[in-house]
Amino acid sequence: MSDKLKGKVAIVTGASSGIGEATALALAAEGASVAIAARRSDRLETLASRITEKGGQVLTITADVADEAQVNDMVQQTHAKFGRVDILVNNAGVMLLGPIEGANTEDWRRMINVNVLGLMYATHAVLPLMKAQGIGHIVNISSVAGRIASANTGVYNATKWAVGAFSESLRKEVYQSNIRVTIIEPGLVATELPQHITNPMAKEAALGFYGSVKNLDSEDIAAAIAYAVTQPPHVNVNEILIRPTEQER
Ligand code: NDP
Repeated sequence: MSDKLKGKVAIVTGASSGIGEATALALAAEGASVAIAARRSDRLETLASRITEKGGQVLTITADVADEAQVNDMVQQTHAKFGRVDILVNNAGVMLLGPIEGANTEDWRRMINVNVLGLMYATHAVLPLMKAQGIGHIVNISSVAGRIASANTGVYNATKWAVGAFSESLRKEVYQSNIRVTIIEPGLVATELPQHITNPMAKEAALGFYGSVKNLDSEDIAAAIAYAVTQPPHVNVNEILIRPTEQER
């Protein structure tokens, strides 16, 4: 444990697996109290045990970020337990790839509701608290897919483009309130993300792409997030693009 984030309180959405799980552990290791949110509460409880075993402070919150009331409740529960909210990591996301023509539009709604609206609801809910505190940091997880669009990934691309546009607009609205905004844009990271793709051909193609290079680990992205949120208050790390060395596009 270091004490760079001692006294700070972080919320990490999508903490039940992958990047969110690694980020919760990394921020706790820097001394932050962490609220960990996702839908799979059993996995959150396991993660909470790992954090408390190392002497960390943790609150588990079962929440669907697509539901604004649950997101508001997540933020209120965190504030009630720890008294402040310094860092929000908007990490929860789904990547339901496939061609636009003939798509199951339910996949589109899930991606927009989680990747875009969920991130917006959480941001909306923490801003009054951060403003009242006079300090805050919002970290939004975009993707290389938020910079480069490809065939068969259009709606995922659109959601991550939205994260970039929203984050830049947000930064311009809140920097004078001492609230920092960071966009993280990972390339291929070895997580369960592609396993949830519903279109069989798109899933096979995605797994083939993941299998073609040595992927990043979730801990690599967690380290980038920890770097951004442990900088001195006058340093606003706006964007980190991080690919596996072997990834070209
Ligand atoms: P995972 O599938 O391992 O993690 C996704 C997390 O999001 C899970 O904890 C999941 O929890 C949560 N989640 C999904 N839907 C909801 C919901 N409705 N409400 C609350 N939580 C939800 O994938 P990653 O760790 O890879 O993904 C994390 C982020 O990183 C995503 O935004 C993804 O787009 C982004 N990313 C990932 C890359 C990669 O290659 N892996 C590359 C670039 C960006 P639960 O199901 O328990 O609710």
